[in-house]
Amino acid sequence: MRTEYDVIIVGGGPAGLAAACSAKETGAEHVLVIERDKEAGGILNQCIHNGFGLHYFKEELTGPEYAARFVKKAKSLGVSVMLDTMVLSVERGGVSASDGAGASGEERPWHVVTACNTAYGLVRLTGKAVVLAMGCRERPRGAVAIPGDRPAGIFTAGTAQRYMNIEGFMVGRRVVILGSGDIGLIMARRMTLEGAKVLACVELMPYCNGLNRNIVQCLNDYGIPLYLSHTVTNVEGLQRVERVTVSQVGSDRKPIQGTEIIFDCDTLLLSVGLIPENELTKQAGIPLDPATRGAVVHENMETKEPGVFSCGNVVHVHDLVDFVTAESQRAGKAAAEYAAGGSCGAGGRELSLKKGDHITYTVPQSIRLKNVEKNVEVSFRVNEILKDMEIQVLDNDKIICRYPREYMAPGEMEHVAVPRVLLEKASGDTLCVSVAPRKTDQVPACPERNENKEVLP
Ligand SMILES: Cc1cc2nc3c(=O)[nH]c(=O)nc-3n(C[C@H](O)[C@H](O)[C@H](O)COP(=O)(O)OP(=O)(O)OC[C@H]3O[C@@H](n4cnc5c(N)ncnc54)[C@H](O)[C@@H]3O)c2cc1C
Repeated sequence: MRTEYDVIIVGGGPAGLAAACSAKETGAEHVLVIERDKEAGGILNQCIHNGFGLHYFKEELTGPEYAARFVKKAKSLGVSVMLDTMVLSVERGGVSASDGAGASGEERPWHVVTACNTAYGLVRLTGKAVVLAMGCRERPRGAVAIPGDRPAGIFTAGTAQRYMNIEGFMVGRRVVILGSGDIGLIMARRMTLEGAKVLACVELMPYCNGLNRNIVQCLNDYGIPLYLSHTVTNVEGLQRVERVTVSQVGSDRKPIQGTEIIFDCDTLLLSVGLIPENELTKQAGIPLDPATRGAVVHENMETKEPGVFSCGNVVHVHDLVDFVTAESQRAGKAAAEYAAGGSCGAGGRELSLKKGDHITYTVPQSIRLKNVEKNVEVSFRVNEILKDMEIQVLDNDKIICRYPREYMAPGEMEHVAVPRVLLEKASGDTLCVSVAPRKTDQVPACPERNENKEVLP
């Protein structure tokens, strides 16, 4: 069994597979994907609904179809895939002056990936570069402190999705869904199609947390009521869930007495957020951003540990897999270049990105100009529903570029491409991404979301 690789990728979901293909296409000879599940594809294998690939393939695919295209591509490119194997740690190893030397001849450490499986037991593999692509997990009941009994019948939406779509079990007949994230919305439709009655989708915030298209296609099309500014305040049931109480909340997000609605149901599904799986990242001593709970990354998805890259949901939660693919291709390419001794842009001018008004985070958090060819893609989310606004990139208080948006919502990730020529003109070493009311006299209307129409001031 080979133990030395150019690039080792942890996680065989869409992020890991796209990074692996891109590393191979960039010239890395030995590329390995390690996946703990029995098959590659990640969360996509249980997402049997359509809606994947509209941006990347310009086709509407199901999750397994999207994943299968990348599994096939990885195979044809000669990527090695180790399934049923759990990665336990990623550490900095010894220094190799011959193979591991960078372009300038400096010595570089190898990265040691420790994993285990039933065929080989504990294995220690070394990689010149490592890509972390472990995805994320769902926030469970304990994390949102729902009062009441603890009967059977309470599932996270993704667990219910796995039971139904992979294991073939019907998880309930009369269902209440807490949280309006995409998984909850998709499960509202899925359960309805399987013959269950979805009584309500309940959301604490005054806005829905999922993609607009999922609200329309999964709730509105099936007449499922959405209760905004509501939450579950009690769960009753001895063996199995029997009743769920839902109350309206005030602007302080606290339940308002006297607004209780009681639903007789046997199932409560939770879609209350995703948490990036960063145990390996933390253990490796790689700094995380408290806003994303993912690694702090540069423009090419390199973390603060040279030679370790991160991409996909483990960096920040994405709503569309197409964007996971694009981001992971950048990571895979950069990892292959690093493995071949490239500098990865280190040593040149670096700009850090600060979040301004209405912005919850930015990815990347810093930009090394040496690595930017034409422009750099910046992704972020806003903290409330916003209409007729513009995204601004500011150098001190001076706007260096602006992007008009008719509508923005926290459930939909935003992307802007900032041109290198403008980055070069920055006076300091920090830029701020902010959202402000749109200046209609200066900016033409932008008809479509996510269409990057930068307008130079
Ligand atoms: C329910 C649901 C519905 C969605 N619907 C849509 C949609 O309609 N359209 C769309 O475009 N996108 C959709 N998405 C989003 C999209 O599927 C995700 O953004 C994408 O799958 C994230 O890819 P990833 O590779 O980062 O993570 P994942 O797909 O989660 O893959 C991570 C992989 O890493 C593995 N792993 C983790 N830790 C280890 C370890 N220590 N050792 C080995 N392996 C490890 C996991 O087993 C997993 O296979 C949906 C997501 C969900 C959850």
